[in-house]
Formats: sequence, C-alpha cells, structure tokens
Amino acid sequence: MISVLVLGSGSATPRVDRNPSGILVNSANSSFLVDCGEGTQLQLRKYKQSLQRINHIFITHLHADHFLGLFGLISTQGMLGREKPLQIFAPKGMEEIIKVQMKITKSWLTYSLSFHEVDCSKSALIWEDKEMEVYNVPLDHKIACSGYVFKQKKKPRNILPLKIEQHKIPVYARKEIKLGADFVDEKGRVIPNSELTVDSEKALSFAYLSDTKVLNEAPTILNDVDLLYHEATFLNDMADRAEATHHSTAEQAAEFAAKCAAKKLILGHFSSRYDELHEFVSEAKPIFANVHVAEDGKWFSTE
Ligand SMILES: [Zn+2]
Repeated sequence: MISVLVLGSGSATPRVDRNPSGILVNSANSSFLVDCGEGTQLQLRKYKQSLQRINHIFITHLHADHFLGLFGLISTQGMLGREKPLQIFAPKGMEEIIKVQMKITKSWLTYSLSFHEVDCSKSALIWEDKEMEVYNVPLDHKIACSGYVFKQKKKPRNILPLKIEQHKIPVYARKEIKLGADFVDEKGRVIPNSELTVDSEKALSFAYLSDTKVLNEAPTILNDVDLLYHEATFLNDMADRAEATHHSTAEQAAEFAAKCAAKKLILGHFSSRYDELHEFVSEAKPIFANVHVAEDGKWFSTE
C-alpha cells in the first residue's frame, strides 16, 4: 500500500486552513516528501510525522509555494542531530538557492545533503530501491516543472507453506520458484508453478502532478495509476485564467484522470479565493466518479 498525507492543499497564497504545497508519501519502509512549501515542517509536526524518516525530497518546480519550507526543514533535521544522508531531487537552481541560504546564514549540517538535478524536459527513472521506483514527468507550467510517479516494484510470487512441506522443496530451489519456475521433485515429477505459488500483492502507484496546465496526452508512465494527485487551482468558470497561468480546472483534472485510467483522483492546489470545495467535486464527478478533494491533514491510500 502507498499512503499519502496532504500537508498543503493550497496554492500560492496560504490560508489558515490550507498550507502551500507539500505531500508525504509513505510506503512500508520509506517516507518521501514531495514539495516543501512554507511551513511544511510545522505541518509534519502537527500531523505527528517524523521529520527524520524522510530521506528523499522531490521538488516539482521553483515557484516559492513549492519550496520555501525546504531550508527550514533541512536545518531542523540538522538541529535534531540527523546523521542519515538526505537526497533532494529538483529542477536546476534548487541547489544554488539552498547553498546561498546556508552560506549567508553560516549554517552547517550534521549530515550529508546531495542534490540531483531533474531534467524537466523528459520523463526518466530518477531513483529506485528494492521496493520502489520514482519517475519524473514533464509538466506544462510557466517554468521548468516535473511531476513525480512512485511505482512499487512487483514482489516475487509467494510459495504456499503447505506445498513446501508436501513436496519437500529445499531452500535452494525456492528463489527460482518464486520467480515462476516449476519444481522437479526427488522422483522426477514436475510440479507446475501454478500449484506451488500464489501471486504477490499488486504493485501500486501514486502520481503527483502539480503545477500544470492540463496535459493533452497522458504519458504512458501514468497508465492505470492507482492514485493520482492532480492540481485543480480553479473551477471551470475560470478556465481562461487557468490557461493563462498554466494551471488546471477540476473538470480538466477529471478528464485527465479518465485518460490515464486512474483508479482514484485527488484534487488539490486550490486557489485561496475558494472557501468551499464541494463545487470541485461536483464539477469533476460526472467525468471521473472516484474523485476526492485534498485537505490539509487528510490521508489517502492506494487501496
Ligand atoms: Zn507554480
């Protein structure tokens, strides 16, 4: 399962009930932070999430509402005695911004900080470990901007314990069986893999697309995405403004989710002019039924 916690559902102008952008992505062994608007570390505290569990931060673009909280967060991680390295993935310029802040404030860190420049002109695998892959997706915003896709890796098949006993499957043979091999027992009988194993859990995915004018084509990496966070800064009556500012409306986000054959859609990055969000749902629902609105402190998951 992948769970995400909305840390900031607002756009550039914050409201007391909507922080600027930030989302925490939790899988079994890791926490990833995507975007780090002003106040993100306070949001993490407010919603009782560990700052130190975050080892990877992904910044979509260098508009202030998506990164202004970064220097504060990395400083606090240092003040708390962090030793684990921290990796930051962001478009060109992020490293320079942080290094200027560190230099002028004479700050130093107790851990190593590395920056990875994301090429926002093309999609690529930018990070992976045993359980997860992270891809960037070029977005259409006023400056270089990338969305991020978190894809769990498919685990090997599970061998049924009963079958291990029944066919006396030795330890050395189990790895191949988990990868799909049949088993030949002592008497030379072939036991088909389908009798020995069951499929492992489905590999799930989460995509975060903000900020962007709705993309004309859905990139293939987003096909069948389980959970899609798409910005919807405006309602449809402000489609012209969305176009001019390279943002999306709720209806456009819903159309895009349908194009991707997404399973669940979360709308976010709401303009501060909107007090109520039910109209975002009413606009999107006729096009994409499984739609939800982001709210600060709200959890969503792939299941
Ligand atoms: Zn922006």
